[in-house]
Amino acid sequence: MIRKIVFYPDPVLRKVGEPVTEVTDEIRELASDMLETMYDANGVGLAAQQVGEALQLAIVDVSHDPECISYLRVNGEDTTLEEVSPLIFINPELELLGTKGTDVEGCLSFPDLRGDITRPFEVKARVTTLDGDRLVIETDGLFARAIQHETDHLLGKLFIDRMSTAKKMAIKRVLKEMQAQFKG
Ligand code: ZN
Repeated sequence: MIRKIVFYPDPVLRKVGEPVTEVTDEIRELASDMLETMYDANGVGLAAQQVGEALQLAIVDVSHDPECISYLRVNGEDTTLEEVSPLIFINPELELLGTKGTDVEGCLSFPDLRGDITRPFEVKARVTTLDGDRLVIETDGLFARAIQHETDHLLGKLFIDRMSTAKKMAIKRVLKEMQAQFKG
């Protein structure tokens, strides 16, 4: 089932997600709905907060672009995006690595906004799957960027927080319009 995507400034987007301690049928259904919702909106990632649930659960799928990474290891073994996608993960812990890079990001909770965001280029992510498997994912490029963007959501952090001061000034009006349109 496609769920309604929550837009800024809905307060749920600022909530730190509760850790998922048990993968219930409800959690599985939420994850499956999130996939359907993300693909329907042509997104590459979605966090539970974006469908109104403050939980440490997110999904990422950048497999449409196999060239967007230069390496991918899961638990020390080389693998492909196709093999791990869609990545559905709970309770992530990130180690940020490598030099920083800047690239344009969008966010399904800000339909009219895109902006340059600087982030570490590589990541080592410790995540748990819905089957309870613990994965150590080492990667770079768009996959690393999307994992960081979604993990930010799980901590109540949004990509606008990471924009440059100049960009923050430039988007003030768009944010004001979104605030005016928001009906809590
Ligand atoms: Zn987002």
